[in-house]
Amino acid sequence: MTTTPQITVLCITGWCRNGSTIIGNILNEIPGFFHVGELHFLWKNAAGRGANEQCGCGLKLVDCPYWSAILPIGRPPGTTLEAHANTVIRRQLATVRTRHTWRVLRSGVYNADLRAHADLMGQVYHAIADRSDSRVIVDTSKMPGESALLAHLDGITPYYVHLVRDPRATAQSWSKPKEYVYALPPGKSTGYWTGFNLAAHALTRRHRRRSMFLRYEDFIADPAAGIDALLRLVGTDPVLSPMRGRTVELHRNHTVTGNPDRFHTGATLIRPTDDAWRAGLPAPARRTVTALSWPLAWRYGYLTGTRKE
Ligand SMILES: [Zn+2]
Repeated sequence: MTTTPQITVLCITGWCRNGSTIIGNILNEIPGFFHVGELHFLWKNAAGRGANEQCGCGLKLVDCPYWSAILPIGRPPGTTLEAHANTVIRRQLATVRTRHTWRVLRSGVYNADLRAHADLMGQVYHAIADRSDSRVIVDTSKMPGESALLAHLDGITPYYVHLVRDPRATAQSWSKPKEYVYALPPGKSTGYWTGFNLAAHALTRRHRRRSMFLRYEDFIADPAAGIDALLRLVGTDPVLSPMRGRTVELHRNHTVTGNPDRFHTGATLIRPTDDAWRAGLPAPARRTVTALSWPLAWRYGYLTGTRKE
């Protein structure tokens, strides 16, 4: 009888544009860590139905040496990538959307579609660990339903980071398209911000001992301390941190989508402030964001200067 080896998956949750890509790429520099980017979108993007088809290494996902070996997993013989991707996407939409997070937390694998998706993801994470010779996979998908499912996969110990960024900075970032990333109006961005953060709360409350809360603003104020805290969370000695003050040397990665900065390599400075929204977000948009986000934004210390988390 063979036993499934135990691997760690560090999930970064919260709403998009929260700085998860750079944190994932910093962790990717540590021996034994592998940042997969937003794994949730692997099938959609590889089949050409997503925002971009490129891996962080610059190749198309279907041509990348990592992902070309992962994409056939769970694909019935004779089935095209497109048909398999359609099946995976249909199951994701039916079982692990943000609205499903509470059900997955409460009931685990609650139907046959989710069983099939759980089996696929279990195989995929282990295949990634094997191919990359890593013991910690960093997944910055930020999909709380997918993250909740991880606790029900054999041989996987999940850890969770609830990463929050000021909703005004988030809305300003979403207000303009950049490269392959489309734009969202402030009201819509903030609606998602609230929904994803509520789901992330439920997730980290359920797995309190394997979770941490981190504000993006606190991370950029002292990135070395932020990375040390993440390493301690997953039981890794912070002496392995690649941070040198505010600077990190980044190498090529194999991320599935994420912030377009993921293609950047070389010496990278983490800048200490994130206040472009003060000049860039018009007053009416700022009022919309404040009105829609205030209970949580206040709790996180963005509106009053005092954090209640
Ligand atoms: Zn690649």
